[in-house]
Amino acid sequence: MWRLRRCGGRRWRLRLIPRRAAPTASAERDATPRILLVAIHQSYRIAAYQSAAEALGARLVIASQGEHSLIPGIAEGIHIAFSDVPGAVQRIVAEAGRAPFDAVVASDDLALEVAARAAGALGLAHNALPAVRASRRKDIAREVLRAAGLPVPRFRRLHLRRALAPQIAGLRYPCVVKPLAMAASRGVVRVDSRQELLGMLPRLEAIVAEALVPDEREQLLVESFIPGEEIAIEGLLSAGRLHVLAVFDKPEPLDGPFFEESYYVTPSRLPKALLDRATRRLAEACAAYGLREGPVHAELRLHDGEAWIVEVAARTIGGDCARLLSFGTGRSLEELVLRHALGWPLALDRPAGAAGVLMIPTPAAGTLRRVEGVLAARQVPGIEDLMISIREGYELTPLPEGGAYLGFMFAHADTPAEVETALREAHACLNVVIAPRLPVAMTATS
Ligand code: ADP
Ligand code: CA
Repeated sequence: MWRLRRCGGRRWRLRLIPRRAAPTASAERDATPRILLVAIHQSYRIAAYQSAAEALGARLVIASQGEHSLIPGIAEGIHIAFSDVPGAVQRIVAEAGRAPFDAVVASDDLALEVAARAAGALGLAHNALPAVRASRRKDIAREVLRAAGLPVPRFRRLHLRRALAPQIAGLRYPCVVKPLAMAASRGVVRVDSRQELLGMLPRLEAIVAEALVPDEREQLLVESFIPGEEIAIEGLLSAGRLHVLAVFDKPEPLDGPFFEESYYVTPSRLPKALLDRATRRLAEACAAYGLREGPVHAELRLHDGEAWIVEVAARTIGGDCARLLSFGTGRSLEELVLRHALGWPLALDRPAGAAGVLMIPTPAAGTLRRVEGVLAARQVPGIEDLMISIREGYELTPLPEGGAYLGFMFAHADTPAEVETALREAHACLNVVIAPRLPVAMTATS
């Protein structure tokens, strides 16, 4: 048996070497691989990567930003500031001088640039900076896809500090307006007229005011609405080759005005020819961005026999949804990502049966009092797990301002139709009790 491997812990080289078993937890201490995870503060992906590293017998070091020190014994940590990318890279390189890393992985979009630069400085496999930038910035992504001749909606940037009238002249509706670089559909809105667009802008301006990068606070992207069904593809790139791990149908129509994620079901029930086209378009999009290594999470719309890229992110699927990929294989998505980053062989087993998740929608704004019917929902055949992520007493904020999911429920069954039915039945058991936000008027008494 032969395989391709990274040589001398340096750059990828195509060299055939005898296949060896991947090291396990019982391997010699010195041989324990050391992986750097660049993660944003409180990323929910950290725990999944920690378990994955443990399963592979690797040591995970986390580089993150935050006032609170990481707990010794659970994780080793490097403090970095995402606002100072060269400084962050310097700290990582200094740490690598003390004890080298075998791989660098990013948890989230914001961590990608630091991870790519650090991996570059350490001679480890990584994506080029322009590729990482295109995958994070929706306006750059559109330019890159258009230049590569892929199907893209008409698009333009809106600069919020400049006169709007000339910028929105000639727009054809419906349009989708969105921040240049946010996630979870925050601030993504369909508008059907000039009036709707103008009415929505103050809300969107307030949302992008929270962006970390200054020019992302002052601009929006507006693009024509692509009708059609939407799918998500989870993939892993290895030396520029796309391995499709799963294709998810989104069986709930996403026509706006807001685009709340809800049902994801895999495998897809769409015709194979259409799925093949979507996979080809995604591979072309990755090549156009210059993405060659690591996970990709993409959304595409299928319209008129064509697959239109909505976005390609150079990270794993969001929320706890990555768990869907381990049903039937026992191997987590994060484990695959780490194996790939270490240059180990990828065991890409197809999950058995069908699986799905419902990102439980937030029905209204207000204070969460309780979620009733959780026990009944858990008992619906096919439901594997249900968790409510927001605690009682906390504020619920629906889209477009909000971005947090109320919770997740997972289902596993023989067919995608059974999975969808289980999720819908379980969702119908839930009653989300919310106390509305009441305006308090203070009146002076004499
Ligand atoms: P985010 O990164 O916040 O998830 P996206 O650009 O992926 O933002 O948009 C979120 C959702 O909005 C998409 O999954 C899709 O349903 C919808 N959407 C975005 N752009 C368009 C478009 N041009 N046409 C139709 N729907 C769109
Ligand atoms: Ca998206």
